[in-house]
Amino acid sequence: MFKKAWLIARAVGSIGSVIGYLISRSAWMRMRRIRHRFSSASSSHAGHELRNIVVIGASMAGYHAAKTIAESLLPGSPYRVVGHEHKAFIPYGPYLRRIPEDALRWVRGRAVGITRDSVRLGSGEEIPYEFLIVATGAGATDALPSRVDSDDLSEGISQLKNMQSRIKEAKNVVVVGGGAAGVELATDAKSQYPEKTVVLVHSRDSVMHRFGPGLQKAAMEGLKDLGVEIITGDRLIGEDKERSVVTLRSGKEVECDFLVNCAGQRPNSTLLAELSPNSVTATGHARAKPTMQIDDESLPNVYVCGDVAETSTPNPNSRSARAQAQVAADNVVLAIDGRKPTREYRPNWLEALIKLTLGLDKSVTHIGDFSGTEMLFPAKEKDLALMSGGAWKHMGATPFQDDTESLQRFFNKA
Ligand SMILES: Cc1cc2nc3c(=O)[nH]c(=O)nc-3n(C[C@H](O)[C@H](O)[C@H](O)COP(=O)(O)OP(=O)(O)OC[C@H]3O[C@@H](n4cnc5c(N)ncnc54)[C@H](O)[C@@H]3O)c2cc1C
Repeated sequence: MFKKAWLIARAVGSIGSVIGYLISRSAWMRMRRIRHRFSSASSSHAGHELRNIVVIGASMAGYHAAKTIAESLLPGSPYRVVGHEHKAFIPYGPYLRRIPEDALRWVRGRAVGITRDSVRLGSGEEIPYEFLIVATGAGATDALPSRVDSDDLSEGISQLKNMQSRIKEAKNVVVVGGGAAGVELATDAKSQYPEKTVVLVHSRDSVMHRFGPGLQKAAMEGLKDLGVEIITGDRLIGEDKERSVVTLRSGKEVECDFLVNCAGQRPNSTLLAELSPNSVTATGHARAKPTMQIDDESLPNVYVCGDVAETSTPNPNSRSARAQAQVAADNVVLAIDGRKPTREYRPNWLEALIKLTLGLDKSVTHIGDFSGTEMLFPAKEKDLALMSGGAWKHMGATPFQDDTESLQRFFNKA
């Protein structure tokens, strides 16, 4: 009881420190604007060549970093943010509402090479940079559910629908990976189609092994209650599509006419490995300093954030990605003001808060500090869209209203 009260007190403290940070950041931004207004040098940049801050990847980390920096650029600044993204499925744009047109250039394209001073795109365009933020994330495969393997909205939607119909048509569904994605997919499939066999294969002794024992138990029970078969301590080593079976390391064969891989997220760090081979670990993560600069003394102007970065965050997710992006962005702002990048990312256990669905109408929310103290909040779910409307709002968009207009002003400004 005391431990839980202490957990809640610390959670409140953590929220308080985030609010404190936002207040002090807002004061910092205001001071910069006031200083700029009274500075005689404020107009001295006029006519100067543009200096680019390039952000590669525009998802949780990159989008937030680009927005934060572009919003922080002072009028007349010679800097401009250039964001790269090769996917276009959510209505990017509304989140950038307050950004002046000349502060950001949005490039739809894939970065295929990085040198010490420029980024090369698949189109052949070379973009010079003064600061670079790499936020290329991670993926288990290039296909669903980890990634939507298309650059086109309608094609992406049809891939999602195709996956749904393959689950609908299958008799035996095998899901590999007992993290949140695997547990949610297996429980969704089984609660939608109770007559199907759904098997979840996980290499550890319990699903959700990165979390505390309470959540592991709740997830195992949720799977069992629905009738999902769980195979733990084993790995998939092959699939025989003709015989409709998968083989596990133990030698066991499992009937399978639809296999879903939710395991083995691998960071997208190929570009960084070419630029700074020693900064990329065996797992493919890019080693980051607490300032989110890449851990390479010769590249103080290169930052990494989100799933591609190695930090000590226990559970990489969208919250930790954005927190790291905020640090990287603030340090770039300090650096362009001629100051030292002193902001530091320290993983906060509260970032690992998770709401795990266990079928279409049940969820459990978990907070835990990784010392064994955890709290679980089971709930009935009424909203099939599972708070996605809130996520749209969070990104500045009106829920489920496609907005193709607000990004246009940032396109194609070479
Ligand atoms: C199935 C699934 C469900 C999840 N559910 C949740 C959840 O409910 N809550 C939560 O907090 N987290 C969840 N996560 C984790 C969360 O999605 C990630 O932690 C988060 O997206 C990391 O953000 P990121 O910006 O670092 O990387 P990503 O979101 O992976 O984005 C990286 C972006 O970079 C782009 N990119 C990569 N290479 C290039 C290149 N060369 N040129 C241009 N662009 C490039 C990619 O297209 C991608 O859009 C989930 C993950 C998965 C796989």
